[in-house]
Amino acid sequence: MTSRLSRLAVALVATAGATLGVTVANPAPASAAATICYNTSQAGAYAGTASQAASIWNNATVNLTLSANCGSNLRIYQITGGGSYAVRTSLGNGRVYIDTQQAAQYSPLRIMTHEIGHILGLPDNYNGNCSLLMSGGSAGTSCTNPYPSTAEANRVSNLFAGTFSATDRSADVFRDSWPSVLTPVS
Ligand SMILES: [Zn+2]
Repeated sequence: MTSRLSRLAVALVATAGATLGVTVANPAPASAAATICYNTSQAGAYAGTASQAASIWNNATVNLTLSANCGSNLRIYQITGGGSYAVRTSLGNGRVYIDTQQAAQYSPLRIMTHEIGHILGLPDNYNGNCSLLMSGGSAGTSCTNPYPSTAEANRVSNLFAGTFSATDRSADVFRDSWPSVLTPVS
């Protein structure tokens, strides 16, 4: 009985080893890295902020690279009033509008990285958590965190690796993605 169990154990170990041998190999990347050309010719005072935000996203993700002066997948605009928002026409393409009035109250870099996050496929997540980028203005004016969480960054990487469904690539307008009116502090 004991020896039979021992032989079984040896067989199981051998099987596990064989399975490991098969799964060790890394699968090839699903696609080459996408280049998202952003254009700051109409970004006004926020052109530098856009470049900082691009660097943040480039450092946090794989499968995509935001690059300046190579085209206009993403146009950045400076506006005054009406609230900051993003218009995504497809994954990695669209327009971002930065409201100067909001940028005087909230961190301009956090607004910029948040709105670009919409272009990169992320939805809003207004839960007030400052450690999340997509919590946006719900985290208050004191929250200046411009970095996506690991989960947010990984979701973007996965979107550009093509592992998400086609519905995640649809056009969308995030028009109320940032509060348009600051709640008065009493
Ligand atoms: Zn938003």
